[in-house]
Amino acid sequence: MPADTLPNLGHGRPYVAIPGPSVIPDRVLGAMHRASPNIYEGALPAMMPDLTRDLRAAACTTQHVAIYVSNGHGAWEAALANTCAPGDRVLSLATGRFGHGWAEMARGLGLEVTQCDFGRSSPVDPQAVEDALRADTHHRIRAVLATHVDTASTVRNDIPAIRAAMDAAGHPALLLVDAIASLGCEPLRMDDWGVDIVVAASQKGLMTPPGLGFVWASDKALAASRKLKGRSPYWTWDNRIAPEFFYQYFGGTAPTHHLYGLRAALDMLIHEEGIAAAWTRHRRLAQAVWAAAEAWGNGGAMALNIADPAQRSHAVTALRLNPPDASRLRHWTETQAGVTLGIGLGMAEPGDPAWHGYFRIAHMGHVNAHMVLGALGAIDAGLKALSIPHGPGALDAATTALMQL
Ligand SMILES: *Cc1c(COP(=O)(O)O)cnc(C)c1O
Repeated sequence: MPADTLPNLGHGRPYVAIPGPSVIPDRVLGAMHRASPNIYEGALPAMMPDLTRDLRAAACTTQHVAIYVSNGHGAWEAALANTCAPGDRVLSLATGRFGHGWAEMARGLGLEVTQCDFGRSSPVDPQAVEDALRADTHHRIRAVLATHVDTASTVRNDIPAIRAAMDAAGHPALLLVDAIASLGCEPLRMDDWGVDIVVAASQKGLMTPPGLGFVWASDKALAASRKLKGRSPYWTWDNRIAPEFFYQYFGGTAPTHHLYGLRAALDMLIHEEGIAAAWTRHRRLAQAVWAAAEAWGNGGAMALNIADPAQRSHAVTALRLNPPDASRLRHWTETQAGVTLGIGLGMAEPGDPAWHGYFRIAHMGHVNAHMVLGALGAIDAGLKALSIPHGPGALDAATTALMQL
């Protein structure tokens, strides 16, 4: 049957499998469905000590956390505004799209950027980091900007190896890590790994609507920030980290409903499932996606953007097809099966025919085996309906991979 005469099977609960905003649990939505709370006393202000404790647990740190009413870009800016002044230099490690975005923001703040670009399908080479830092003999570089998981290329960088390279170079720069895609999905141990700043946002592994940015800071980062002159009053983290009054957590009115949503999300992630179990769940779901992709690739153009499984994100997977098949497939799964797949962000410019040769499957946050198998099944059906050449056995391979430890 030609694709356009198939019965439409898209009506039902949609699954938006894009890498943020991720699937929001009904419990989080339900917790937000309430009248405006009192922001001066009562349950909401009383919630904060436990909320910040659980946020620290999510990043495996006992140090500090600041909350911003912002998206991830706001958290990026907050991290830079508290550690660097105009004219300071940062070392940017780019492995896809997001490292470049953070570097652009640094330039916009008047910082000088030394750029190390590792392309769109490879992780950071720690030796290059060590070399760049050794070349900085006057220690002008104040911060190293690393992306844990680049959500466009879906590479995962080895943060402890980057830390080791900084130590080997004997360089005093702070290590700043963008964990917006990875936090809550893959192992991230801020204190054990010697990370000075972690940035994240609410709408990916933390399963809450977009609107909260988080910056975790080490004692060393805090001490460095105190030496900066003329820090932006809004982005300064001092009061947010150690507020005297409730409003100071947020530099103004609290993001009331988001806080209730986040409370429910952290109950699920930290207290019920446990962060380590959530990491394991994401790893196994990722392995199912990779197994399916490899099977499709045995007999067609489908290929994983990151060749080495050890360098692949457990939160999102970027895939290649011959253009325009990736866009055709996305359109089919969304309209015919209710599964929205991610676009191939940053791999080619929109308008370039190559743009239609990439797509992404997000498996971050509130997703389980049946959801991922459903998405893979929809892709399998789409490949068949659109006569896109592909190898057989993808769903068998996925279920087998799910059973592996
Ligand atoms: C989503 C994302 C961002 C941007 O976050 P926004 O909330 O869209 O500002 C930055 N870095 C990474 C790694 C991301 O996944």
